Amino acid sequence: MIIEMIENATVAQIGHVIQRVEAMGFSARPSRGANRTVIGVVGGAGEEDLAPLAGLDGVEQIAPLSRAFKLVHREFRADPTVISLGDFAIGGPEFVVMAGPCAVESEEQILETAREVKSGGARVLRGGAFKPRTSPYSFMGLGEEGLRIMRMAGEDTGLKVITEVMAPEQVPLVCRYADILQIGTRNMQNYALLEAVGKVRVPVMLKRGMMSTIEELLLAAEYILANGNSQVILCERGIRTFETATRNTCDISAVAVIKSQSHLPVVVDPSHAAGVRAYVPALSRAALAAGADGIIVEVHPRPEEAMSDGAQSLTPDGFRELMDQLRAMAGAMGRHVVA
Ligand code: PEP
Ligand code: MN
Repeated sequence: MIIEMIENATVAQIGHVIQRVEAMGFSARPSRGANRTVIGVVGGAGEEDLAPLAGLDGVEQIAPLSRAFKLVHREFRADPTVISLGDFAIGGPEFVVMAGPCAVESEEQILETAREVKSGGARVLRGGAFKPRTSPYSFMGLGEEGLRIMRMAGEDTGLKVITEVMAPEQVPLVCRYADILQIGTRNMQNYALLEAVGKVRVPVMLKRGMMSTIEELLLAAEYILANGNSQVILCERGIRTFETATRNTCDISAVAVIKSQSHLPVVVDPSHAAGVRAYVPALSRAALAAGADGIIVEVHPRPEEAMSDGAQSLTPDGFRELMDQLRAMAGAMGRHVVA
């Protein structure tokens, strides 16, 4: 259920409603928009339970939420969520580019990549220190040493750092090094992990499960918000279909669907969707055209030597070319890409 307050309801009116909701044994989650506050009621409240609150000062209406996801839904918060990361933000007018290798392999590799992507216009450096691999015999990442290298490269270049966290017990460690926590496709429904990242105050990028519906993605994000962290970015990274020409199928329609249903920012990962370097620019341009708030793209200084995902990694030159294309397009979409 949601309680919509009148425009410019006072702090006292809002506080009183929250007090009454909590006195009934439910949780109140206020969301303050530019003019209007909406209070989400969590904990199984029905229409009859909340009916006595309809007459309180400042209450405009009490309405059931039409879906199982409450906090992530636009009905709960009309204004888009904008995640501020210092001198830029994800979810605002800027189309934000996150770039870097699949995995942290060495200090030299990360520093070289960070400088290249920074000069091309990336805002965030990506790179996995804990790698979820399909085979237990594949390279699993450098662990904490990899996190240290990412942080150092972030400080060197001024880039923010995004890196994957795979287990609840890793969350405090990864939070010490990362500006954004990444939850990978294989962990989208790892509920203990979702709860753990919900309890910290570091932004989270949640990747869509490779066999998950958009609704399941939104419900997974709901876990993070319900645990108190509202700084969530959703990521479409391709889903499994019968098509074999690409590694996954980039579900570009997910961008439009998520934008219409949720206030959370959406980015596209064209690299894991395509699996093939040659298709990455087209999918990146499609992301911008569809209304995504950014992309996360794999770049390696020597893709042929990459320890993972070399076939889908752009070279630094390829990355710069892509950035020029995105810059040329952005204006038509009312966006901009940093120079
Ligand atoms: C990654 O971003 O390197 C990654 C492992 O992605 P995904 O979880 O989408 O496979
Ligand atoms: Mn990868």
